[in-house]
Amino acid sequence: RAKQAGRDTFRFFTPQMNVEVLARLDLEIALRRALENGEFVLHYQPKVQAASGRVVGVEALLRWERPGHGLVPPQAFIGVLEETGLIVRAGRWVIATACRQIGAWLRSGVGPVNIAVNVAGRQFAEGDLAADVIEALTLHDAPPDLLELELTESSLMANTERTIATLTNLKRLGVQISIDDFGTGYSSLAYLRRFPIDKLKIDIAFIREVTSNPDDAAIVLAILGMARSLKLGVIAEGVETPAQLAFLRRHHCDEIQGYLFSPPLPVAALEPLLLQDLRMPLPAAGEGVRYK
Ligand code: C2E
Ligand code: MG
Ligand code: MG
Ligand code: MG
Repeated sequence: RAKQAGRDTFRFFTPQMNVEVLARLDLEIALRRALENGEFVLHYQPKVQAASGRVVGVEALLRWERPGHGLVPPQAFIGVLEETGLIVRAGRWVIATACRQIGAWLRSGVGPVNIAVNVAGRQFAEGDLAADVIEALTLHDAPPDLLELELTESSLMANTERTIATLTNLKRLGVQISIDDFGTGYSSLAYLRRFPIDKLKIDIAFIREVTSNPDDAAIVLAILGMARSLKLGVIAEGVETPAQLAFLRRHHCDEIQGYLFSPPLPVAALEPLLLQDLRMPLPAAGEGVRYK
């Protein structure tokens, strides 16, 4: 019996385990190199005004051009960046790159484009986020009101006082603040009101079946209702079908983002879309009723 327990204990050190530890270490080393060598790029996904179909901004999404691996999506490395604290440096690069892009578009004839960047909790806890943002805006002569920060509920919950102070400073400058993946965390809206928030981003999990699952529809309607009462903007992420769009338009969701209009794109592919003022085709009048 004791022997069995002993064996269970030592199961921790299997060859398989070593393989995982080494792979993780390998990834960490490669990510440090990626930061030094400039292997990260930002792709940008349009955000569209639901009522008009016009592009109102873009979200910057991190990609890794890892030599020999092609384009690596964030789910494969964001976790390691966060655990190792490298996210603070990577996040600083994301903010600087987004601000440079705001300035470049503003002065190249594309015009003012609002860029939202994702910010991890550790960027509030470590380093000086407000200083980084101000430095980047100043360096690239980017208007603060064209920058938006997307934060998750959990990162707000983690370091309250410091986060409120930082966000208040940024908001005073004109930077917009939104709550990403809204509805998936455990925070009440009453709690969130302590933070200077402009916008809620309804998580894709509630949008996926919003036209077929009454519970998801009820949650989305509740979020839209609360946001309206509190005078917060609302954007729905992961909109893929005309039926989802029709539902969201009918219930006065301000903005949508999703493959229905466009996936995240590299700058060169996105620019023509911004320059031509391409609109999202809207469902015909009355079409929404079909999806009720
Ligand atoms: P997120 O901020 O919630 O971004 C939305 C994700 O949904 C993106 O995945 C986007 O490509 C994807 N998406 C957009 N439209 C659709 C759609 O219609 N259908 C589906 N199925 N998916 C859609 P991506 O780019 O792989 O990013 C995943 C997550 O990685 C992001 O979720 C965000 O949490 C994190 N992330 C990305 N870039 C950064 C960054 O620069 N910093 C930090 N801290 N996190 C980042
Ligand atoms: Mg986001
Ligand atoms: Mg999201
Ligand atoms: Mg998400």
